Amino acid sequence: TAAVTLTDVRKTYHRGEPVHALDGIDLSIETGSYTAVMGPSGSGKSTLMNVVGCLDTPTEGTITVNGTEVTTLSDAERTRLRGDEIGFVFQTFNLMPKLTAAENVALPMLFQGAGTKRRTERASDLLERVGLGERRDHRPNELSGGQRQRVAIARALANDPAIILADEPTGNLDSETERRILALFEELNDEGNTIFLVTHERTVAEHADRIVHLLDGEVERIEPVESPRRVE
Ligand code: ADP
Ligand code: ADP
Repeated sequence: TAAVTLTDVRKTYHRGEPVHALDGIDLSIETGSYTAVMGPSGSGKSTLMNVVGCLDTPTEGTITVNGTEVTTLSDAERTRLRGDEIGFVFQTFNLMPKLTAAENVALPMLFQGAGTKRRTERASDLLERVGLGERRDHRPNELSGGQRQRVAIARALANDPAIILADEPTGNLDSETERRILALFEELNDEGNTIFLVTHERTVAEHADRIVHLLDGEVERIEPVESPRRVE
């Protein structure tokens, strides 16, 4: 089954001459798959992430997330779906500086109405899961870059999303830390999580099972990765 499908998705910006940021994208993201997206600056990677993540709506075409057609939803319904089904991981982590690791991880559950006990227990479990059980009461400025990214990944998992969207998740990290984050994505994918990652780095993209190459808002080609790289 598909976690997300895009059918003839177009996004046009009108600012002077129209810009076709997405120009007819057809793409099916299977549940349990690991997809990397590459393409030059301006090819539509950010726009694609924004529409798949229900942060933005396409100008034309349809998107379904876990079987629900997003394009016909109201803003409130779309926000709700985003909270339930999308886990975001950003290059800059986007953690709340005044909250502890556990509170950051619990935040998406709070927005979706989970009770205190459930939030506390699940936040602890998820921090254990990413190897940060000992750091649950630390604030982001007391953690390294790699630890912050692991908190962000735990937060992305909080509501058991249909898909994890990662935008240059290792862009700010040194190579050893990058390796550990890629190992964590591998484990999560082995456990059945669906991962959709944007990267500039070919070596990062080769950890995925396929690479979607974007050019001028179109899928230029989909490259299957015969034997995805594994972190040793
Ligand atoms: P990257 O290539 O690193 O993903 P960009 O510099 O292309 O990032 O874009 C950063 C953000 O600015 C994106 O969220 C994008 O939607 C927005 N953006 C990009 N180009 C324009 C533009 N011409 N006008 C307004 N916003 C833009
Ligand atoms: P990428 O992430 O691959 O760099 P983007 O999705 O940011 O590409 O941008 C694709 C195209 O859409 C670019 O030409 C960019 O300038 C344009 N664009 C992106 N966001 C906006 C915006 N908010 N307003 C106007 N143009 C935009």
